[in-house]
Amino acid sequence: MQWVLNGVYLVVAVLFILGLKAMSSPKTARKGIAWAGVGMVLATVATVFLPSNDGRGLAYFEPGRTVNLVLLLVALALGGGVAAWLGKVVKMTDMPQMVAVYNGMGGGAAALIAAVEFTSDVPPTGVHAVLAMAGAYIGSVAFTGSIVAFLKLQGIMKKTLRLPAQNAGNVIHALVTLAVGIAIVIWGPNPFLLVLFFALALFLGFALTAPIGGADMPVVISLLNAFTGLAVGVEGYVLQIPALIIAGIVVGAAGTLLTQLMAKAMNRPLTNVLFTPITGEAQAGGALEGSMKEVSAMDAAAMMRYAGSVIIIPGYGMAVAGAQHKVYEMTKLLEAEGVDVKFAIHPVAGRMPGHMNVLLAEAGVPYDQIFDLDEINSDFPMTDVALVIGANDVVNPVARTDTSSPIYGMPILDADKAHQCIVIKRGRGAGYSGIENALFYGDNTSMLYGSAQQAVAEVITHIKELS
Ligand code: NDP
Repeated sequence: MQWVLNGVYLVVAVLFILGLKAMSSPKTARKGIAWAGVGMVLATVATVFLPSNDGRGLAYFEPGRTVNLVLLLVALALGGGVAAWLGKVVKMTDMPQMVAVYNGMGGGAAALIAAVEFTSDVPPTGVHAVLAMAGAYIGSVAFTGSIVAFLKLQGIMKKTLRLPAQNAGNVIHALVTLAVGIAIVIWGPNPFLLVLFFALALFLGFALTAPIGGADMPVVISLLNAFTGLAVGVEGYVLQIPALIIAGIVVGAAGTLLTQLMAKAMNRPLTNVLFTPITGEAQAGGALEGSMKEVSAMDAAAMMRYAGSVIIIPGYGMAVAGAQHKVYEMTKLLEAEGVDVKFAIHPVAGRMPGHMNVLLAEAGVPYDQIFDLDEINSDFPMTDVALVIGANDVVNPVARTDTSSPIYGMPILDADKAHQCIVIKRGRGAGYSGIENALFYGDNTSMLYGSAQQAVAEVITHIKELS
């Protein structure tokens, strides 16, 4: 009967791969999520209920083993139930935190599989032991690292933790953990070494992630994602479950590519992210010169209504305010008046990779109206109005000019190069990196104060009056 199980795993693998492929475009992303979801259900049901050569599956129905089946069903109901509930109640803007938690759960699950294997009657040996240990190590780091990422994104952990000689300490910590892991592989598991190993590995995840903050978070989130995939993949090999191996490899590879893309978007080598992190505290040099000039919703509406071209730059504030539908309503009004409107998306805008694309897609903005940084930056000098809605770090020109700034070198959207720039935000709040924004003090910049949804609604009213 193993062949039936393997057949199902093959179908699952195809669903995962096609699902991921479909997720690479907003047009097909929903379909991709559904396929991958069906794959996950199939994999779970098959692993629990189909018989396999090593006694999993239907064997749970045998006398004496039914308690395992009951535990499995309780776990499935609890995990599935909580996830379904969270999926419904968690706000779109809190998605990044939720993704961090799920990521942590994946890493933690991989580490637990290894713990169960090492404490079983027949602990793994040889290659299996090496891989189980690797999965335990990476999975534990991903678990606590993701929990720290969750706490930071949720705003519970506000400060970055910086200890003296942190990098050297972390390297020594990592090597000692590795040595304990190798000892377990060579001499076999013993309870003391196992507890020591897991305590060290779990604490390492915390120690590595706690100092990282501010604008580096996107890179860390995708790196932890890659770690989880890797951990799950190797534990899949240990358990000899092909679906787990493939799921792990797919997540690990996608996470690795995303890490590279995010690091490139930040113009920060991974080593800098890990070893010379940007902190959440302001580090920029002297105070910025000039003053912020306020504009009324009426004047902002007129500037855009009579413009030839407008580029809208959405950021985290637009997401928090849930203003994307209003923004698209305004876009359609402007287009009806003959204004050329485009959207510019920075790779790290918002709080998770692809955050803005998801929101704009949800509001119905056509994909061909949305442009990446590389595609649109050269358009700004020829654009009449750049409208920044709740974005801050991703349009901060100090990234170009101030070598002492923690975001120095990060490519930004060139809103300051447009003829006029209007910024919608509630007040003088800083961006995620905690630093002042030179754009707001620019001669051609006007500030429209207010929460994004309300401010855009007022602009809409005035555009209608002008039409
Ligand atoms: P920022 O977080 O830099 O700035 C958001 C701005 O929105 C704030 O200055 C705030 O100012 C304003 N704001 C908040 N609420 C509202 C509201 N209701 N209406 C209007 N404005 C509001 O956003 P960006 O998108 O520009 O940059 C993203 C930052 O987050 C980057 O530093 C990035 O590295 C980081 N990050 C990104 C992740 C990702 O994967 N994309 C993950 C984790 C972090 P005020 O309070 O005055 O309104």
